[in-house]
Amino acid sequence: MSKKRLIIIGSGMTGITLASNLDPEKFEIQILDKGRGVGGRMASKTIFVDNKEFRYDYGAQFFTVRSKEFGDQVSEWEMKKLVKVWCNGFENNDGHNRYMSTNGMRDLLGNISSGLKIQQNQKVAKIEYFDDYWRLGASRANFESELLVITTPLPQCVELLKTIPTFDHHDSLDEIKKIEYKKCIALIMTMGSESNFDPPGAYQMMDQDWDFVSDNKIKGISPNTCVTAHASNALSERLWNDDEAKIKDQLVDKIKNRFNIKPEHSFLHKWLYAQSKKNLEGYFKKMNSYNNSLFIAGEVFGGSKIEGAYLSGYHLAKYMNNQY
Ligand SMILES: Cc1cc2nc3c(=O)[nH]c(=O)nc-3n(C[C@H](O)[C@H](O)[C@H](O)COP(=O)(O)OP(=O)(O)OC[C@H]3O[C@@H](n4cnc5c(N)ncnc54)[C@H](O)[C@@H]3O)c2cc1C
Repeated sequence: MSKKRLIIIGSGMTGITLASNLDPEKFEIQILDKGRGVGGRMASKTIFVDNKEFRYDYGAQFFTVRSKEFGDQVSEWEMKKLVKVWCNGFENNDGHNRYMSTNGMRDLLGNISSGLKIQQNQKVAKIEYFDDYWRLGASRANFESELLVITTPLPQCVELLKTIPTFDHHDSLDEIKKIEYKKCIALIMTMGSESNFDPPGAYQMMDQDWDFVSDNKIKGISPNTCVTAHASNALSERLWNDDEAKIKDQLVDKIKNRFNIKPEHSFLHKWLYAQSKKNLEGYFKKMNSYNNSLFIAGEVFGGSKIEGAYLSGYHLAKYMNNQY
């Protein structure tokens, strides 16, 4: 039996989980992603400022486990020392584990994706369907496959679907188009001295200005002190269109007053689609047209967080392994 060629758009948790759980005897898998590295919204970076090294998570900060499927996987990662328990709550200990990746969130996906065929810096801009195969126009090449899975945030997915010249508008996208996403502006600050944060080094604030503020050194991923602060959706919306210098000044002022810290250098990252505001039923969507060869997956199907992304990829792989 010849293998089915499958393209997965997106090398985040959904895409990597899907590819890792598909039967390699049945599928020849190519992952394409527009980003420079794997991870998507599980994003970490190392920088050097004044000859000092700083490492920080600037997308997802931690994850929780509720399902058995994800729990089994996390136990395996824990044994391999890819993840560990960060704490049992940020201000209060509620007994539930909050996990972190031992060397930054992106590292987890870097580790578990080794061996997969991934091309980064390949932004898919056009999709065509020719009766029994897909052709994708990406930044540096064209790709063809019999099966296609899109794992991007839904608004980006809708834009991609609209490029299909034969796009079947009867294929209902109504529920997908209704899903809105929270914006998040991440402020990263390097510091010459320690922060005065209490262990475990982070505050899950969820107030009108801030969602989460974390000292990456106390967290254990940075050799020197740097703080990641996620502005709330409300504050991010308010500042979004200002110029970057102005956004930075306003955010740094707010955080300095709140935490009595002294940032030396600061950087921004703007997440247009940080987390979906609502979830969709099921773990993935199979489109009715195109001979059942097009699937949409992602965090939005399993709960707008890392576990949701994992469950979406995992269950789609199970379905496809049975189906083909
Ligand atoms: C600021 C922030 C804080 C968060 N905090 C938490 C948290 O604490 N805990 C938690 O559990 N979750 C958190 N999340 C959510 C979590 O990060 C996501 O739910 C999860 O990582 C989504 O994974 P995914 O694979 O579904 O999507 P993504 O990670 O977004 O992956 C999709 C990929 O598609 C790629 N892509 C998009 N368009 C194209 C294109 N045209 N061509 C090629 N590639 C394309 C993108 O580059 C991306 O890599 C947070 C997210 C953000 C942004």
